[in-house]
Amino acid sequence: MFESIEETAVFQRIVAAIQAGNAGLTSDIDGTLSPIAATPSESFVPEGVRTALEKLYASGKFKVMALVSGRSPLDGRGLVKLPQLLYLGNHGMERLEPNADNPVPAEAVVKYKPLVGAAQDQARRNLLAHPPQDFGFSRGAGPEWVNSLLFEDKGLTASVHYRRCPDPEMARQVALAEIRAVTANTGLVITEGRLVLEIRPPVTINKGTALVDLALRYGLETLIFMGDDLTDVDGFLALRKLEQAGGAFKQGFAIGVTSPEMNPKVRETADTLVNGVDGVEDFLNKLAAHL
Ligand SMILES: [Mg+2]
Repeated sequence: MFESIEETAVFQRIVAAIQAGNAGLTSDIDGTLSPIAATPSESFVPEGVRTALEKLYASGKFKVMALVSGRSPLDGRGLVKLPQLLYLGNHGMERLEPNADNPVPAEAVVKYKPLVGAAQDQARRNLLAHPPQDFGFSRGAGPEWVNSLLFEDKGLTASVHYRRCPDPEMARQVALAEIRAVTANTGLVITEGRLVLEIRPPVTINKGTALVDLALRYGLETLIFMGDDLTDVDGFLALRKLEQAGGAFKQGFAIGVTSPEMNPKVRETADTLVNGVDGVEDFLNKLAAHL
């Protein structure tokens, strides 16, 4: 089903658009540059992906190369290990400039940090008070069952991962109900990704707004964005909006990354698909070879 990416018309258009100048290259991290792991801390970026990104950076063909992730930006940079890139973390709520020491949060989200922290603490207490059967464990499960729920504190946002629960759909229902209860009347919003629920401030900052900001800030005419999940679809759709806005921006290229858990919207909104993280590595290498 996947012909060689070089043979596709969209690849030719991407190369031509980059050669025309004022291009940006952006990507999600988890599930795109790194295979999805049982827990975020077990993730890694394959050396081939890192090398391909380094080659593209060294080509000097991009006005900006940025990684846009749900992770906090320092966490994202710790995983990718390319400090020369720009990191837009927490879905664009925090910005870590190339080689900078500290990220800068968007002003609109700072005041919600205590609320997010409190909601996460309460959700954790409530979830861990459930019997293990509510997550698909047998009645006699040992106390270590609690490790199957992973609470990720990302500062401005917080995630609950239920990937390791024996019955992920049951776990999702229970976690969603508890998170809804603790965020009721706080204004905080809940979003979902691949076997993860997230608590976020009620601001319209997402990967889409992050890409629009980036395109305007750098005066981009071309922007490539690669992603695998529902939050990346905001980015894909933003590329279309930028094209229609009638400014300097000319072309966006949405590269969808396939996975067994792929949300159908990723396929529907992408310009082209690549086959998993291996497909991303191949695409980046082919791109580097043509620039
Ligand atoms: Mg992802």
